[in-house]
Amino acid sequence: MLDLSRERNRMVDVHISRRGIHDREILQAMREVPREAFVDPGFEEFAYEDGPLPIADGQTISQPYIVALMIEMAEVRPGDHVLEVGTGSGYAAAVMSRIVEHVYTIERHPGLAETARRRFDKLGYRNIEVRTGDGTKGWPEAAPFDAIIVAAGGPGAPAALQEQLDVGGRLVIPIGDEQDEQRLLKVVRTGAATYTEEDFGGVRFVPLIGEQGWPENGDRTV
Ligand code: SAM
Repeated sequence: MLDLSRERNRMVDVHISRRGIHDREILQAMREVPREAFVDPGFEEFAYEDGPLPIADGQTISQPYIVALMIEMAEVRPGDHVLEVGTGSGYAAAVMSRIVEHVYTIERHPGLAETARRRFDKLGYRNIEVRTGDGTKGWPEAAPFDAIIVAAGGPGAPAALQEQLDVGGRLVIPIGDEQDEQRLLKVVRTGAATYTEEDFGGVRFVPLIGEQGWPENGDRTV
């Protein structure tokens, strides 16, 4: 089995820590999770470059720095109840699973959800629950959440996700008019019906397709 721990530590030092992510739990989790186990066969040697990579169904495994940034923006802490929309490869859910007790993650493509499940099993990550479906509707039975991370870009923050935040809960989501260019927003629920919004800059994500996302007219890879 290929030992890429040196490359992994280097990636965390150079691309995550030096770029301003200081949360110890996130850095430690990223030193633990083997990203090479979440890329498609043949892409292992690129696993520790700081970029997105293609996965099945025209989707992507997100850039490591953006994964770290989103988890930091969402202030994910041990003991938090966390939801991810857009499991993709499963990498971000795996990183969060090393920080919190339980991660709920939803993926609309059944094949990706199944592959992620198998990866979690193989790595012994038993605290991640994967559901196939439209994540824009959230996971009502498991709500409220302290943190919700949406790993695909939508036209706005889905009402269902905002409603499933606990008071004080954080929703991190790429939002934009264009399907392939967004602003990374942090929405905080400050009261029963009050929210604040903060903009963390431009990003490019695959589209969030669903009832409270973009309509399905063929996924586009970005
Ligand atoms: N977090 C992933 C990782 O670490 O590999 C990257 C996710 S990828 C950038 C975005 C994912 O969101 C894709 O797998 C896509 O199929 C999924 N997606 C898009 N719309 C969705 C929706 N409404 N519900 C659930 N998943 C969705």
